[in-house]
Amino acid sequence: MATPAAPAGADAAALLHQIAQEVAGCTRCALAQGRACTVPGEGAPRARLMVVGEGPGAEEDRTGRPFVGAAGQLLDKILQSGMGLRREEVFIANVVKCRPPGNRDPAPEEVAACSPFLERQIAAIRPDLILALGRHAAHHLLGTDLSLQRLRGRLQTRPQGGPPVLVTFHPAYLLRNPGAKKDCWQDIQVGMGFLGLKGPPDRNSGADRG
Ligand code: URA
Repeated sequence: MATPAAPAGADAAALLHQIAQEVAGCTRCALAQGRACTVPGEGAPRARLMVVGEGPGAEEDRTGRPFVGAAGQLLDKILQSGMGLRREEVFIANVVKCRPPGNRDPAPEEVAACSPFLERQIAAIRPDLILALGRHAAHHLLGTDLSLQRLRGRLQTRPQGGPPVLVTFHPAYLLRNPGAKKDCWQDIQVGMGFLGLKGPPDRNSGADRG
């Protein structure tokens, strides 16, 4: 049977709003007790690129917005200076929507409780590509425990189908290991090739002049 058409922009926006409201009232796991804000995700309802991180950190918990701390600033740079995409053009979400205390890894039961929200976001947006940031997002989305090195830089298929997943390093890892930035850039170029992106206009203007 043919794949049903993607929800129209307004429908996708309404679905995402509904999901965010449910996230705001969620008490499905213990993370609800320690949160200041839920962080449902934000961005364009019909984004071609959906970015998925692990879970909110301190700054995200304080503001209710994904990737707004130091790692978020690097993500913005990867999107804008690398891919030529403004933050508002993509949708940015996390596997879990509440901050794990002390930035610990989310526990399996927390991921299990939260993952229906992410699946519904993916179904609403129907991006062309999902960019998984770091090992935890990659493992969750792909249902594997292969190393990040084995997973990164190639389009991966999810067991349940849907958009391909491109895995790269988490920006927080890149901040600690700047030497990995060049490998990240190689990964990002795979995604740009898939999406037909040429990068920011200033990078292409010289080529136009010949
Ligand atoms: N790290 C994540 O994985 N997600 C955020 O939103 C911020 C930092």
